[in-house]
Amino acid sequence: MNPRNPAGDGRPPFVFDAHCDTASVLADKPWGFRRNPAHIDLQKARAGGLRAQVFAVWVDPLFAPRRALKRGLEVLRALEDKVFAPGLASKVTSVAAMDEAVAAGRLAGWVFLEGGHIIEDSLEVLDVFRSLGVAGMTLTHGKNVSWADSSTDSPRVRGLTALGRRVVRRMERTGMAIDVAHVSDATARAVLGAVSAPVMASHSNARRLCDVPRNLSDDLIRAISRRGGFIGVNFHPAFVRRRVYDQIEAAFARSENEMKRRARGREDDPRFLSDLEWKYFQKAVKGNDPVFIDDLIDHVVHIASLGGIDCVGLGSDFDGIASTPVDLRHAGDYPALAAGLRRRGFRAGEVRQVLGLNLRKFMRRVERAGSGR
Ligand SMILES: [Zn+2]
Repeated sequence: MNPRNPAGDGRPPFVFDAHCDTASVLADKPWGFRRNPAHIDLQKARAGGLRAQVFAVWVDPLFAPRRALKRGLEVLRALEDKVFAPGLASKVTSVAAMDEAVAAGRLAGWVFLEGGHIIEDSLEVLDVFRSLGVAGMTLTHGKNVSWADSSTDSPRVRGLTALGRRVVRRMERTGMAIDVAHVSDATARAVLGAVSAPVMASHSNARRLCDVPRNLSDDLIRAISRRGGFIGVNFHPAFVRRRVYDQIEAAFARSENEMKRRARGREDDPRFLSDLEWKYFQKAVKGNDPVFIDDLIDHVVHIASLGGIDCVGLGSDFDGIASTPVDLRHAGDYPALAAGLRRRGFRAGEVRQVLGLNLRKFMRRVERAGSGR
């Protein structure tokens, strides 16, 4: 299939998702990628028309500051071992390579880092990851790093430090996608001021519709899109509807003491603590209000109304979220999202843009901005 083929020929759209945490699942579970109970496996990708996927190498900030690099390498290895080495997806580092893989009927897999703590304040470590085929990095996760602030931590740097500016400029030069999902507003602005390359928020929604710190203000949506950037909508119900966010917060608060009790004596075991948190996260989403594809499309519509139809796409966060919209349960359900967009008045060409072509164009622009390779 030619991903650039315009709509209207009846062929399924090219689905290209900017963010998933499947690599962590593969690192922690004895499952393979061909078929598993997670949100993304090869079978669901085929059923849903998913042709290209950014796999995040996510490291829980609990592993920082001393064990984040090791954990990052272990997650990367799981991806190499279970996805790329057996040929279930082709690891790609350029749009040309992605197009080639897709044309050959293979799933194209990009690798990003999620969390600047993984590079442990070292530009050299960043370079090593680049040479291992890592094509982008989300600058923070839920906690600040020494050189940038997270949207869900107390402001400290209030932008970027000198090292932070060097990190993003190195990423720009080497053609890596700079991802401001998770970072604070001030840090996102500082990133836009430090580089001229387009910037992405790989898995973030609109704060206007769901007022939580993890989502993007209208101003940031405009600033990112003006620059030729990309915003991938996140399927996590808590970032789609504020009410669900509140329900999860309340459930977490109720089980906080129990969680603390179970963590006692294991304070120096980030793997245990991270698993424990995830268990309570899964518990906290039980019985919450349902969220539907239509609620998610509200965010697509809002982002497009501010930034234009060219800037918005998918950042599912599959396998990093404990619940999903009820009619978008896994990667096999993408046709329902395409149908939902059509029902809401998106033209066939616009549906193709949102489902994958906008992200493809963004990655092309990032490549062009990089001159160091
Ligand atoms: Zn994330």
